[in-house]
Amino acid sequence: MVLHAEVAVVGAGMFGSAAAKYLARGGADILVIGPGQPPRDGTPPSPAAFGAHHDEARIVRRLGWDQVWGTLDTRSADRMRALECASGIGFLTECGALALMGKGVRHRTAEMLRLSAAAGVTVEELSGSALGLDFPDLALPPVAGGVDGLLERRGAGYLNPRLLVAAQLRLAAAAGARLLAGEVTAVRKDPSPGGRWLLRATTADGVAVQARAEQVVVATGALANQSGALPAGQRLDLYAFTEPNLLFEVPAGQLERLGALPTVVVVDPEDRGNDNLSVYLLPPVRHPDGKWYVRIGPGMQPLVRELRTGEEALAWCTGGTLTTKQSRFLTTMLRTLVPALEPVSVRPACCVVDKTPTRHPYIGPLRDHDGLFVAVGGNGHGARGSDEIGRLAANLVLGGEWDFPLPREVFAPVDAPSPRTSGADRPAFLTPPFGLC
Ligand SMILES: Cc1cc2nc3c(=O)[nH]c(=O)nc-3n(C[C@H](O)[C@H](O)[C@H](O)COP(=O)(O)OP(=O)(O)OC[C@H]3O[C@@H](n4cnc5c(N)ncnc54)[C@H](O)[C@@H]3O)c2cc1C
Repeated sequence: MVLHAEVAVVGAGMFGSAAAKYLARGGADILVIGPGQPPRDGTPPSPAAFGAHHDEARIVRRLGWDQVWGTLDTRSADRMRALECASGIGFLTECGALALMGKGVRHRTAEMLRLSAAAGVTVEELSGSALGLDFPDLALPPVAGGVDGLLERRGAGYLNPRLLVAAQLRLAAAAGARLLAGEVTAVRKDPSPGGRWLLRATTADGVAVQARAEQVVVATGALANQSGALPAGQRLDLYAFTEPNLLFEVPAGQLERLGALPTVVVVDPEDRGNDNLSVYLLPPVRHPDGKWYVRIGPGMQPLVRELRTGEEALAWCTGGTLTTKQSRFLTTMLRTLVPALEPVSVRPACCVVDKTPTRHPYIGPLRDHDGLFVAVGGNGHGARGSDEIGRLAANLVLGGEWDFPLPREVFAPVDAPSPRTSGADRPAFLTPPFGLC
């Protein structure tokens, strides 16, 4: 079977589904290729099937670590309620979002507040005692020098990433996009003049399909370099890491009380290796097994491990276990932040995040591949800004005017250095401060 499209979007995740919606709305004939959502408690059968959206909650906030993320996140968050209405799929829970910023980055905190105010985002600065009144079940982390509390109450909390993707794909389809449930295994350009991009794919039922497209958007997430969706020899300066999480089951009797918690991120700016206290925490969220869990994950401490091959990533996602060090760290932080929680059970979740050395997403054309664009590099917090990331990618493909307040070069994709330089020593993006997860 051979399919034809003006634009093929590879990857129906957070960035790809948003890009597909905006491309289809812009009038382009779109084919989206991506594996459907796996069973909610299933394991991914291949690296291409890994999606960071196969989960129940991602923190939503407008307050950004810098103007790039702040603008991406604010623009996306501002559209979320409208997106819910238009798609008929609800995905946002407004429980508030709290950032506990180590005082060692007071200058950065002040700048973040300045940017938020300029963008019209209401962020309250709360002292420890004020936080105690608002959130009696939340204790402060022992970050050296103390923390400043920044709270966003409105339009902030968490989104369900599965449902956001479903909403985006529904709207993309309503605007005319076609969706092929499958995995792309190879992408190459027909070398003849005016030649098209040729994509080889396998459908969910194992049928081999070819697609021909004038332009391609690769939005294959954390394992983009391992996904088979980039032309042979093309690698991005983008790295995948283990993301060890622990889920603490909340007893029914504590649900109401702990349900009042906001989402929390702790920013510990000190470079103290594994003793860095940066973490994120989600309030009780209902999971597919019907139970409610408080989730905790690390910032970017060295205790995470790089995943270099698809096989390594797959082994981690399907059969990985947290190391004793990881479990001990996350458990200690959970007990510190929510001392009242008496968990019924604890279970690990072995996830994957990506990081770019620029710490920003790559959105744009690849230099040596005319008509091939990427939208990748969520850096562990791309869900909340995904609608704007997809919009920017679509706008570039459609040749629209650049309408982001910072130059498009901020998002320029970077090729992986050859020979590879990061990896021997701890790369700069693994040193704190890690930004806002
Ligand atoms: C544990 C965890 C916690 C996180 N917490 C937050 C948070 O609190 N807030 C936040 O904003 N963000 C958070 N993130 C980050 C956020 O989920 C990601 O940044 C976001 O999902 C990135 O979107 P993406 O489209 O790049 O990748 P994904 O959402 O992973 O989508 C990529 C898609 O491409 C598909 N694909 C891959 N290869 C192929 C192929 N060959 N052919 C076809 N399809 C392919 C995959 O199956 C997948 O569907 C978190 C991530 C993790 C893992």
